Amino acid sequence: MITRLSAAEIGRKIAARELSCVEVAEAHLDRIAKHDADYGCFLTVDREYTLDNARRAQELVDKGQGGPLTGVPVALKDNISTNGVETTCASKILKGYVPPFDATVVERMKQAGVVPLGKTNLDEFAMGTSTENSAFQLTRNPWDRDRSPGGSSGGSAASVAAEFSPLAIGSDTGGSIRQPASLCGIVGYKPTYGRCSRYGLVAFGSSLDQIGPFGRTVEDAALLAEVVTGADHRDSTCIPMDPVNAREVKAGTLKGLKAALPKEMFGEALDPGVRAQVEKAVDTLRREGVEVVDVSIPSIVFGVTTYYIIAPAEASSNLARFDGIRYGPRSDGKGHIGVVERTRAQGFGHEVKARIMIGTYALSAGYYDAFYLRAQQVRALMTQEFNRVFQDVDFIVSPTSPITAFKIGELTDDPLALKMLDYCTIPANMNGMPGISLNCGFSNGLPVGLQLLAAPLQDERLLQIAHCVERALADATQRPPIP
Ligand code: GLN
Repeated sequence: MITRLSAAEIGRKIAARELSCVEVAEAHLDRIAKHDADYGCFLTVDREYTLDNARRAQELVDKGQGGPLTGVPVALKDNISTNGVETTCASKILKGYVPPFDATVVERMKQAGVVPLGKTNLDEFAMGTSTENSAFQLTRNPWDRDRSPGGSSGGSAASVAAEFSPLAIGSDTGGSIRQPASLCGIVGYKPTYGRCSRYGLVAFGSSLDQIGPFGRTVEDAALLAEVVTGADHRDSTCIPMDPVNAREVKAGTLKGLKAALPKEMFGEALDPGVRAQVEKAVDTLRREGVEVVDVSIPSIVFGVTTYYIIAPAEASSNLARFDGIRYGPRSDGKGHIGVVERTRAQGFGHEVKARIMIGTYALSAGYYDAFYLRAQQVRALMTQEFNRVFQDVDFIVSPTSPITAFKIGELTDDPLALKMLDYCTIPANMNGMPGISLNCGFSNGLPVGLQLLAAPLQDERLLQIAHCVERALADATQRPPIP
């Protein structure tokens, strides 16, 4: 069955002419057509668009110009701009908007013959942790369809877990790649801030946002990272460095490495079942020859509160462009201001409006110093504290999410609980370091994610460590009970 294969395996079979690119695209499109109604991963699937791209990929193969992922389909979070294909951010305010250009990541995928496979569901404008804030539909967790896949990149994560696509692209502002990867039992990797161009990603919190891959193995995620990362003059925050090198990912052993466990990430809020699995994984690391030390990073406890000043502040500014004039549908209203007001009132959902208001407040004269500036100071402190730890250790280990997948609707009335789900992931967005989540075991039949963090720019090292950890963990690549 083609859809069971890893991306690397599909790529090898295509290169060896055992499979054609069109055959691979059709297998995934057919599976989506048959089963996605039960999961709600995709907002848009354009069969002809995907098949066209598959045919172009096959031309590359036929000319001997293919790479390791040529012909491999990739699902895209619907906040990534796709030329000619609707891009909504799961918001009514962008319904019907068709970008006239490709995001850099999409352009690079096409150049490498990686096949775009439709647009996945998300929390509106990537604001959320459950994908329940989508204006259009629910997405269900492949391990238990009554449960959330996490968020905000829930559609992408569930798509990879449900074998609708071997790979997917997400975006991570406070954890939106790693947290849904954890809840869906797959690999999710947020590169160092600036290693992947954000050109064409609809901006949420520009100093925090980073695009990254989902896969069912670390190797697959690394291969996709190699395609989409690297210098890009169209994003001024993109670091002028080579793409993440996936070839370095295979080699290596864990013996002799040193890892830190920040005690602030193992606090009382951690679900006992999650704690047990993470501690078991840490024991495995010790057996593999990793020296594990306990550390304290006191500023971690301020992460969520600090994030909820900075992210809404940047969002309030970024989302000012949605006025009904330039993008998407337009509501009737009196004069220019009336049109803008009515469009925004009708187009944005509750969570997005709340954040625009909080962000506008935090940035307003008189409050800027008390909130925004103070938050930036905490951020600087956090960066210093993490840098100090990385002087002495190779990587940091923690849970990804404090709990496993929760029932859909279970946390709707508890916005604080939802926000606390990013407690362990937010620090990586604050200081830009790379982070990866992989499955380390199960609690009551639901996957538990292990988060690994490395110093900024140590992406290859992090992926190599993650690859070794994956091989050491018995449960890392177990599959959900899907049709
Ligand atoms: N859950 C966080 C939020 O709602 C992070 C979202 C994200 O990373 N895009 O802001």
